[in-house]
Amino acid sequence: MQAESSELLYRFFRTASEYLEGYHRAEPYPETFYPLISQENAVSEAESDASYGFEAITAVYDGIAQCTACALSRTRKNTVAGEGPAELSGLSDAVDVMVIGEAPGADEDRLGHPFVGRAGQLLDKMLEAIQLSRKTNCYITNVVKCRPPHNRDPAPEECAGCADFLQAQIRLIKPKMILSAGRVATQHLLQTTDGIGRLRGRFFDYNGIPLMPIYHPSALLRNENLKRPAWEDLKRFRDRLLQIRKDSE
Ligand code: SF4
Repeated sequence: MQAESSELLYRFFRTASEYLEGYHRAEPYPETFYPLISQENAVSEAESDASYGFEAITAVYDGIAQCTACALSRTRKNTVAGEGPAELSGLSDAVDVMVIGEAPGADEDRLGHPFVGRAGQLLDKMLEAIQLSRKTNCYITNVVKCRPPHNRDPAPEECAGCADFLQAQIRLIKPKMILSAGRVATQHLLQTTDGIGRLRGRFFDYNGIPLMPIYHPSALLRNENLKRPAWEDLKRFRDRLLQIRKDSE
């Protein structure tokens, strides 16, 4: 199982290289990629009963679909609420991790699903490397549910306008851990102005839920030098998740 996990992690970085360099490596997976199991203390699962007035994830989705609270509603094609196993069966305790990005892009706006472009494909590889999938145990969403024009960063007031939807999603889905992808999502969630280079790879307590900021997958596609620290971050995140799962057995 450990060797399998190591291969998946290595495959993620090889995939990032292939995106960047346009070639396929054929060498075997190195032994140094075998996982290291962390013995750090796990943070207990958050207890959260409030859901910001929403009693089901489908109600959150309906609220998002009808929302005109900010100007982004006038330029969107579709709202992009989120995607994961929870939406298949209402509330789900199968969600280990919630990934939170900043906002839908052009592909997401067109299709109504989060992280579906090249960055989304890489995110799926990254999640696969730590045994996570939006089909089984991982929920993916964004801080802002409508696309900002020209893919600009969402404004603070747009993030704030969408905050109740995101809070309701977190409280209804109850993820064991959160990955915040990129600077914008991380700065909003942690209410900080620190850059992602300073915040990435560290654990923060988000209302009782361990949260780790990571580089946005699109940044990995742009800058190969980020893939090594991104891998180190994912390893630490995976180790903490394994410990939390073990403690809850
Ligand atoms: Fe409503 Fe959020 Fe869309 Fe603005 S971005 S219209 S607050 S759902």
